[in-house]
Amino acid sequence: TYQIHIIGGGLAGSEAAWQLANAGVKVRLSEMRGGGEMTPAHQTDGLAELVCSNSFRSDDASSNAVGLLHAEMRALGSLTMAQADIHKVPAGSALAVDRDGFSAGVTAALETHPNIEIVRERIDALPTAGPVIVATGPLTAARLAESIGVETGADALAFFDAIAPIVHRDSIDMDICWMASRWDKVGPDGDGKDYINCPMTKEQYLAFHQGLLDGEKTEFKEWEKDTPYFEGCMPIEVMAERGLDTLRFGPMKPVGLDDPRTGRWPWAVVQLRQDNALGTLWNMVGFQTKLKHAEQVRLFRTIPGLEKAEFARLGGLHRNTFIQSPRLLDGELRLKSAPHIRFAGQITGCEGYVESSAVGLLAGRFAAAELSGATLAPPPATTALGALLGHITGGAAIDDYQPMNVNFGLFPPLALERKTKKADRKLLYTDRARAALAEWIGAETVSSPLPPEQAEPA
Ligand code: FAD
Repeated sequence: TYQIHIIGGGLAGSEAAWQLANAGVKVRLSEMRGGGEMTPAHQTDGLAELVCSNSFRSDDASSNAVGLLHAEMRALGSLTMAQADIHKVPAGSALAVDRDGFSAGVTAALETHPNIEIVRERIDALPTAGPVIVATGPLTAARLAESIGVETGADALAFFDAIAPIVHRDSIDMDICWMASRWDKVGPDGDGKDYINCPMTKEQYLAFHQGLLDGEKTEFKEWEKDTPYFEGCMPIEVMAERGLDTLRFGPMKPVGLDDPRTGRWPWAVVQLRQDNALGTLWNMVGFQTKLKHAEQVRLFRTIPGLEKAEFARLGGLHRNTFIQSPRLLDGELRLKSAPHIRFAGQITGCEGYVESSAVGLLAGRFAAAELSGATLAPPPATTALGALLGHITGGAAIDDYQPMNVNFGLFPPLALERKTKKADRKLLYTDRARAALAEWIGAETVSSPLPPEQAEPA
C-alpha cells in the first residue's frame, strides 16, 4: 500500500519521492525504463539519468541564479544535490558530475528507502484517484501524453519548442531603440508603445542576413526529424535562405514603425516583446533559431541597440512536452481541473536538470504537507525556488507560455535608489534570497490543519 503515486523516475520524480519518503509518506514510484521501455534520449534504466550534458551549471550561489537554486535545494535536503556533490568532477566554477555515479547514487538511495517502492511499469492514463505526481518529463510516453492532452484540453503536447532568445531589459540601449507598436496601434492593455524596436540600415541588414547564412547551426536529432514543425515557428536562418527580403517581409518588417531619430521607417526592424509580468525580460519576436549559442550571442549583438545584450535564454528548436502551467495549475502545482494530480519537472515548463529537480522538490513538499492535513506556504518570490514557481504558476505570459531556466529576470526587481553595477546587483539578489529562504524555513510554514478525517490519505 502507498499514500502517493509518482509517475516518472527522472530528475523531478526522484526528488519528489525522496522529499515525500523523508516526510514519512509511503510512495509508489512508476518508471517505465527497466520495464521494457525507453525514451528516444535515455540510454539506461537508472533513475535520474542525465540525457545530455553532465553539468548542473554554475555552482556560484552569490552571483548566479542557478547556483543560488543549488544552495536552496541543499538547504532543503535535496537528493539531487547530495548525489551531485558526492559524484562531482572538476569543472571550474560549474557543478558537473559523473553521470553514471550520479544516477546510480540516486537509484540506490531510493531503492533502499523503506518508504519507497519502485515499480518498473509504463502508465498510460492519468489516474482518476490520487494523490498523484506526474513527472514524466519532456519525452512523456505517447499514451500518457494523450491522456494529459484530453484532461488539459490541448490538441497535442509533444511539439517543437520554438524558442526565441530572451534579453534582459536593462541591457538594451534605449538611446538607439524606441518603444512603439506598428502604426502606433493601441491594444486592449497597451498604449501604442508595446514593443522595443531596434532599427537597421540597409548595410546592417545585408551583413546580418549574410551572418545568418554563414552561422554554424545545430543539427536535428534523428528522432526529432519526424516531429513536424509548422510555418509559424520556422527558424530565422531558414527564412533567410529563402531570399534576401524574406525576413524584411516577415519578423523584421519595418512598415508602420517611424524611427523617432529620423522620422522614417528603417530598412529593417528587430522587435522585442515583453515576456514576463515584471517587465524585466523581453523576447526577440520571431527569432527562433538553430544557430549555435555562441553564434547567436555574436550575431545578435550586431543588432543596433543590442550591442551589450545579456541573454536570459538563447533561441532553440527542439522536441518537448509541456503543459500550459500558468493557466492549468494552482500555486501548489495541482491541476485546477483535477486537484488530486500534481505536475513536476520539465513537463511544467521549467527547463534544465536543476530546475526540474527543484520543481520535483516543491511538488513533493506540497504533497507531503497536504497529506498531513496542512498547507505549505509557497517559498517567497524573492528566492530562486519561489521565482521559478512563480514563472510556472503565475508570472509568465498566459497566452504564449514558454519553458525557461531560472534567471534573475524571474525575480521581483530590486528597489534601487541609485545606479548599481551588475555584479553588485547580483549580490543584492542573492543576499535578499538567502534571508527570505532562512525565514521561510524557520517560519511556521505549515498552517490551517484540516479536520483529521479529511487529512487521511486517499
Ligand atoms: P526526465 O528526467 O526525462 O524524467 C522523466 C521520466 O519519466 C523518465 O525516466 C521516463 O522514462 C519516464 N516516463 C515517461 N513517460 C512515462 C510513462 N508513461 N510511464 C512511466 N514512466 C514514464 N537539461 C539540462 O540541464 N542540460 C542538458 O544538457 C539537457 N539536455 C537535454 C537533451 C534532451 C534531448 C532533452 C529532451 C532534454 C534535455 N534537458 C537538458 C532538459 C531537461 O532538463 C531534462 O530532460 C530533465 O531530465 C528533465 O527532468 P524531468 O524529471 O522532468 O524528466
